[in-house]
Amino acid sequence: QADMALFQAKGAGRNTLSFFDPEMQVRLQARARLEADLRQALPREEFHLHYQPQVTDSGEIRGVEALLRWQHPRRGAVSPGEFIPLAEENRLIVAIGAWVLESACRQLAAWAADPARRHLTLAVNVSPRQFREVDFVERVVAILDATRAPAERLKLEVTESLFLEERDEARAKMLRLRERGVRFSLDDFGTGYSSLSYIKRLPLDQLKIDQSFVRDLLVDEASAAIVASIIALARSLELEVIAEGVETEAQRDWLIAHECHAFQGYLFSRPLPLEELHLSKAC
Ligand code: C2E
Ligand code: MG
Ligand code: MG
Ligand code: MG
Repeated sequence: QADMALFQAKGAGRNTLSFFDPEMQVRLQARARLEADLRQALPREEFHLHYQPQVTDSGEIRGVEALLRWQHPRRGAVSPGEFIPLAEENRLIVAIGAWVLESACRQLAAWAADPARRHLTLAVNVSPRQFREVDFVERVVAILDATRAPAERLKLEVTESLFLEERDEARAKMLRLRERGVRFSLDDFGTGYSSLSYIKRLPLDQLKIDQSFVRDLLVDEASAAIVASIIALARSLELEVIAEGVETEAQRDWLIAHECHAFQGYLFSRPLPLEELHLSKAC
């Protein structure tokens, strides 16, 4: 309280000479505080993973996506939409991302030992900043070795922004991981600026239709057209296609009618902590 007043007094003094926005100052301070807390979150074990099923039109669960959750000691749950961009800016995402991968791979290894679950794939989000680290491939391989997780069940979700710069390096890393068995999904597909001719050269397994298009599918012709073209593109490139953010039966039915047979969304399940996840039966 006291230091805030001081801050504003100083600001007010400067006001005559330069632009001062007390609201922006408050926002910057809140952000700095969040950043300081984020630095402590790993050592304080405030992160955990939720898992969201990926299902087929027969309701069978093929895999799950791991989604990071941060339980802040005072603020409660902080959304990844808020802290992931912050972690990317200050490079904390590298350590956080390694923690996510290791936790996910440990889970994958546990499923591999369970006959009812060994078919499941586990999708893990990888941020561009994390992927661009020089030793990213070595880190992933070390985690696979240490956890003994089956590489062919690990699916890394990357976004188109990865291929805006240094695309050949990114492609080379993907090829090395692919050699090890790791699979790739292009997340939020359709929202970026990737060139289609380049996508053809990437060792991808799956296109993931962005949830914004799925949301507007039945209300906006342009979104429907985009979804239909992504499905057609996936088919002609011989890639799997999955729709994210499926919330209604009408959306699911439209997708099935247009030959998309894999879904993820609240219609089937929200992302859940491991204890609440029912993977053996269909949802
Ligand atoms: P994403 O990878 O595209 O994940 C899908 C997001 O959509 C998740 O939000 C999920 O909870 C939400 N979602 C799932 N089904 C539905 C639905 O039916 N309707 C709606 N409206 N939303 C749905 P979440 O968990 O808040 O994550 C947001 C983003 O944060 C993720 O988008 C991903 O880009 C990033 N993220 C999450 N976990 C990680 C992580 O471990 N590492 C990195 N680098 N990024 C992560
Ligand atoms: Mg994702
Ligand atoms: Mg997505
Ligand atoms: Mg998204």
